[in-house]
Amino acid sequence: MFDVVVVGSLNLDLVVSAERIPSPGETVTGTGYHEYPGGKGLNQAVAAARAGARVAMVGAVGDDGAGETLLAVLTDAGIDASDVVTVEGVPTGRASITVDAEAENSIVVVPGTTGHVSPAVALPNARVLLLQLEIPLPSVASVARRAADDGVLVVLNPAPAVALPDDLLAACSVVVPNEHEVELIGGVDAVLATGVGTGSVTRGAEGVSVHSRDARGDQPAFPVDPVDTTGAGDAFCGALGARLAAGDDVTAAVAFAAAAGALATTRHGAVPALPRRSAIDAILGPR
Ligand code: ADP
Repeated sequence: MFDVVVVGSLNLDLVVSAERIPSPGETVTGTGYHEYPGGKGLNQAVAAARAGARVAMVGAVGDDGAGETLLAVLTDAGIDASDVVTVEGVPTGRASITVDAEAENSIVVVPGTTGHVSPAVALPNARVLLLQLEIPLPSVASVARRAADDGVLVVLNPAPAVALPDDLLAACSVVVPNEHEVELIGGVDAVLATGVGTGSVTRGAEGVSVHSRDARGDQPAFPVDPVDTTGAGDAFCGALGARLAAGDDVTAAVAFAAAAGALATTRHGAVPALPRRSAIDAILGPR
């Protein structure tokens, strides 16, 4: 029995730095190259594990070096990867990112195996199922329904946002959009009208608003000096899933998750910035 199972994306981000982004047909000499593990699924699985949860990840990688790298990231984080399938002949999902001297970027995303996560994937036993929208929508809807039927608490981070079928929302207990995504999924009242218990809207440095059918509460942001906000939302969702699985109520879990999101902004990158439970507890104070 796991605390949290994440069914979602695993990607390798290939980041090239250059003075400027080349025009079509042009070649420029770059100044740096780095590879970073990513995908909202992988990020949130690592975030939940660092927050103290026993985590299983379900997804797909290719039979290539990128797939091996991503599986090693999961294993290093103590995450069970036995239900990450290897798809022959399809490349592991990648994002090719060029960043110029002004930090402007241009990105090509190749979903690759991320587009091959099937609606019939294995679903290990867990208290919480944590989902995002980087794998095919029918797969998200299928696992959400299967988990809800088994009494699992389903948490959906609707990112990247698209209009959502009512039967997917009806399987979710908690929906966690950011302030832009909440508009794209039709607003928090429409989400709650489908039967979702809690809408938790993350608002960056403005904190979080937590909505249920008959109440709204606000969780202020923890004061930090941000250096890079990449991964704040993933840190938030992973930590939220970990604490809901541990039995916290939504208010306590959101406070913990907001502390995790704040800490993630104080370091560069996504996975390297995901905080550990001890650091989160330290800024939360006594509970
Ligand atoms: P996303 O990365 O999905 O856009 P947000 O930027 O809303 O998500 O960040 C998620 C949560 O992380 C916020 O609700 C907040 O609690 C915390 N957070 C994000 N940015 C800051 C910040 N600058 N200062 C403090 N907390 C932050």
